[in-house]
Amino acid sequence: MRNKNIDSLFTFIDSSPTPYHAVDNMVQTMEKLDGIELKESEDWECKASSLYYVIRNDASIVAFRTPKAIDFNKIAFNMVAAHTDSPCLKLKPVKKDVTGNYMQWGVSIYGGPLLNSWLDRDLNVSGRINYIQEGKLQQKLISIRDLFFRVPQLAVHLDREVNAGLKLNSETHMVPVLGLSDNDENLFEDLLLERLDEKGVEAKDISAMDLFFHESQPCSYGGMKQEFIFGPRIDNLAMTHASYEAFLAGSPNTKVSLIASFDHEEIGSSSPHGASSNFLNSVLERITIALGGSRQEFMKALTRSYLVSADMAHALHPNYEDRHDDVHRPLINQGPVIKMNAGMRFATDSQTTSRFVLLCRQADVPYQTFTGRNDIPSGSTVGPLIATKLGVSTIDVGNAQLGMHSAREMAGSLDHGMMIKVFTELFGE
Ligand SMILES: [Zn+2]
Repeated sequence: MRNKNIDSLFTFIDSSPTPYHAVDNMVQTMEKLDGIELKESEDWECKASSLYYVIRNDASIVAFRTPKAIDFNKIAFNMVAAHTDSPCLKLKPVKKDVTGNYMQWGVSIYGGPLLNSWLDRDLNVSGRINYIQEGKLQQKLISIRDLFFRVPQLAVHLDREVNAGLKLNSETHMVPVLGLSDNDENLFEDLLLERLDEKGVEAKDISAMDLFFHESQPCSYGGMKQEFIFGPRIDNLAMTHASYEAFLAGSPNTKVSLIASFDHEEIGSSSPHGASSNFLNSVLERITIALGGSRQEFMKALTRSYLVSADMAHALHPNYEDRHDDVHRPLINQGPVIKMNAGMRFATDSQTTSRFVLLCRQADVPYQTFTGRNDIPSGSTVGPLIATKLGVSTIDVGNAQLGMHSAREMAGSLDHGMMIKVFTELFGE
């Protein structure tokens, strides 16, 4: 069941090892489509039938298309929100000491990864490096894909009880090995400088960095009929990609179509560019003003607007059937999952569901519903955070996957195209 939607998703995931790279890839495509970057520090002027995007801290992005006709009695925002970040190992600012002759670098655990899945995996390093050149603050994205690093697991002979339950200390057991030190403490810094040099940057020293270890193996199809996809960061680059593909394909008639993909969802969304920040709110108000509207018109437009919070969902796990509600157990390749939680850990209600069901019908796509067991606490998404801030009608949806937060996750090869079709309906309004 190979298809072009998944081929395109694979290209996006493989070339987006960090949120910075995901945003950079989206920007490069939008530039080819004459997308215009708006800077928050400057005045904005927007016109009809145009494509714009705004970036915060290189890692969160809001992009929007203005409708063919601007009518402030009708204007509204049709939005899909997702996130650019995934759980991983983030390099600490200063390296660890050499143990024996190993060169290692300490890591902070970013988000809630399944730590065991990071063991004995070939890891690359990518991210953002900041440096100072002739008194000026500079930065560059970097991605080391040709060198591989490891967090080696302890042999079974040295931990005879390991298969009864692996216990990992997140501080001491997850430190990747970069190589052998050769009595040179600066090997890694020198490597980074060398890679900057290859990009034409003559940095003498690095002032700070946001670097991450990540899975190196490219995405692949799986299953007897290639009905599965295997790859890193499916949560949530898949939903970022689905919203983005639909967004680029359709031009809206009377509403503003908008996608937002935020960094820092995996650590709670509280940062100057996370979903709990003023980023989206500020962009929406400025769009209204830049189109010639007033604050009153902005507030009115919010009441007519609709937000789809798109984040991956938990598929029924065949080996842990008891972890699921008896009926609400999403199946792979059976269409988008509408996520509900009576405690509003998901923003979905009957009205926002009804609207999404209509979109599914228009797109001729099946849908499923999910609610968790009462005795297992629910996860959450950016949906309730944004809904609370904006007061906009919001639904939480996603495609079914297994192994969420593993270094290498698994989903369906048909669900992705179905979600794109539903988003395309939304963005055609
Ligand atoms: Zn997620």
